[in-house]
Amino acid sequence: MLNKLIVKILPLMPEKLVWQFSKRYVAGSTLGDAIRVSRELNKKGAKVTIDLLGEFITDLGQANENKTTYLNILNAIERNHIDGNVSIKPTFFGLLLDEKTAHDNIAEVVHAANEIGNFVRIDMEDSECTDREIALYKSLFEKYPNAVGLVLQAYLRRTANDITQLAQLNAKGGKVNFRICKGIYIEPEAIAFKGYQEVRDEYLHDLELMLDNGIYAAIATHDKYLIEKAMDMIKSKKTDPSMYEFQMLYGVTPALRDFILAQGHTMRIYVPYGQQWFGYCNRRMKENPGIVTDVMKALFVRN
Ligand SMILES: Cc1cc2nc3c(=O)[nH]c(=O)nc-3n(C[C@H](O)[C@H](O)[C@H](O)COP(=O)(O)OP(=O)(O)OC[C@H]3O[C@@H](n4cnc5c(N)ncnc54)[C@H](O)[C@@H]3O)c2cc1C
Repeated sequence: MLNKLIVKILPLMPEKLVWQFSKRYVAGSTLGDAIRVSRELNKKGAKVTIDLLGEFITDLGQANENKTTYLNILNAIERNHIDGNVSIKPTFFGLLLDEKTAHDNIAEVVHAANEIGNFVRIDMEDSECTDREIALYKSLFEKYPNAVGLVLQAYLRRTANDITQLAQLNAKGGKVNFRICKGIYIEPEAIAFKGYQEVRDEYLHDLELMLDNGIYAAIATHDKYLIEKAMDMIKSKKTDPSMYEFQMLYGVTPALRDFILAQGHTMRIYVPYGQQWFGYCNRRMKENPGIVTDVMKALFVRN
């Protein structure tokens, strides 16, 4: 109750105070911050995927700026020998304003990644975007089969079918590569599973479909139950380490992250950065008001 109230008043707090807590979840506001944090994570044995924080854009000029920023991120990853790739949100490239422009913008980023042997992950946004983002992935896969991947959400009722359909792309060469996550948006029951265990069960079903269909699986979760089940599945199927990795968000469940790394699995950390860190952190707290206790600690205890 108290945590929910705090989440409500958080946007009214001075940014400096909120930053004391947020720095655990966000690399910082500049690309230099993202590279510094990525280097630290690389030293711990984790790979990274760098994400530019942002809110919905309202004109294509902003889409163009975001494209340029992503080209700079790829360049910085290369120059600094970072073991990492990038994650993008197609709406930041204009997906809901002008699909063709968004496609061209994203193709330019994927092309640049392909040139340097890097990779672009297309994050999955809310259900208004699902068909569009799958179509975008298919079209980019035709030209850059090793440089682009997609995210699928276990809470969507359609996902198992999408996996079966999209697995057919494997026949075209390259490696079909999906991040499977529970899904973060609020979707209607007509299209989304709602029960906590139901979503977990579906997650494991989707993961099994991916592994059985030769799809590279990026297993994105902090749910210990899912991580243990995924590890069992990988072991029993004798899945080659070149066919999967675990993924987590920066700052979330670091002990579990270290445990997975210690077991010898590949781990990639999603590293968000950007001027818009304030909005991102507010969303994380709305998603999980339990962590507001951490905010309060961070406000009073220096670390
Ligand atoms: C690398 C990565 C990329 C993602 N990309 C997308 C995407 O493209 N589209 C999309 O819809 N969703 C995405 N998500 C979010 C995902 O869909 C879930 O909403 C989120 O990961 C929480 O689900 P969970 O599997 O961790 O399980 P939960 O049951 O939510 O969490 C398990 C435990 O992890 C801890 N935890 C989880 N989240 C947090 C948090 N924010 N802060 C602190 N502790 C936390 C808590 O201890 C919790 O009990 C991504 C998640 C990850 C890890």
